[in-house]
Amino acid sequence: MSIISTDIQKAVHLLTNEELVAIPTETVYGLAGNIYSEKAVKRIFSTKKRPFFNPLIVHIASAKALQTMTTHIPEKAKLLADAFWPGSMTLVLKKNEKIPDMITAGKDTVAIRVPNHPVTLELLKQLPFPLAAPSANPFGSISPTKPEHVESYFKNDILQVLDGGACSNGIESTIIGFEKETPVIFRLGALALEDIEAVVGSVSIKNKKEESPDAPGMLARHYAPSTQTLLVDDVASEAKKHSTKKVGVLVFKESLNNSSLTEIILSDNGSMHEAASKLYDSLHELDHQKLDIIIAERLPNNGLGKSMNDRLQRATFTI
Ligand code: AMP
Ligand code: MG
Repeated sequence: MSIISTDIQKAVHLLTNEELVAIPTETVYGLAGNIYSEKAVKRIFSTKKRPFFNPLIVHIASAKALQTMTTHIPEKAKLLADAFWPGSMTLVLKKNEKIPDMITAGKDTVAIRVPNHPVTLELLKQLPFPLAAPSANPFGSISPTKPEHVESYFKNDILQVLDGGACSNGIESTIIGFEKETPVIFRLGALALEDIEAVVGSVSIKNKKEESPDAPGMLARHYAPSTQTLLVDDVASEAKKHSTKKVGVLVFKESLNNSSLTEIILSDNGSMHEAASKLYDSLHELDHQKLDIIIAERLPNNGLGKSMNDRLQRATFTI
């Protein structure tokens, strides 16, 4: 029997009993547990095979709960929360003693977000505790944007995927931390840099590939399909080099019109938003086609294109 179900009361019951439930958000599906249950939080790490140095995002129903978890909220954090919550932005703030160390991997900061999905907002309102929820995929693999993706990863590990349909934004939240009072981008994501700068002025990006990064979604190899995947500017000429192989191509808006390739077009009309919403699903699709190689086209490097290129770089070998 499928573990996918729309039953919010079932999710409330499971989470209250320290079980995990996969939850829909507008970014990607999350693998959620009660932040105050050591058992649930440990199971999040073990189910994902996520290293303990990689902290979790805390999901809350409204910005009002911020004061109960943090020691200080910079003015610009308040402006950002007002502008973008509920939404695809995570704020990293100084934590207070109520937040368990396992959630933050021992850091003195905690990552918090109000997700913009009606089903999960309703669930959060009914629960007397916040939810820790990293993306519902095994560590390093492609993030899930449909309930079926989670089911194929974790059908033997969890009892419910709460069905909220396909994720409308389709890539992870943009993570913003603070150095003193100044916002710094720790991870590019579903909220474009330009939108953030319209509210708080110019921000720096600390989106590096590091060994022990500030935000471990920044590890060099992450979000990866199991099929060998390349990221290039010119897909047509790269595909020619592999003409003896079974090739899948992922292009932004223009078809290569080559029937010997398995092709997915992210957005016929060149919409970055549509492309982002289909990015991971398309990688899942191609990864299941038993191809020898996937060739992905680099997107225009602005707005959400910048965030998508960041993810593709980590999912692929760049030429
Ligand atoms: P995921 O939900 O799987 O996309 O992962 C959550 C992301 O949030 C990871 O990249 C974490 O490193 C990042 N994160 C969580 N807590 C913190 C924190 N206190 N400081 C910086 N990044 C964080
Ligand atoms: Mg993740």
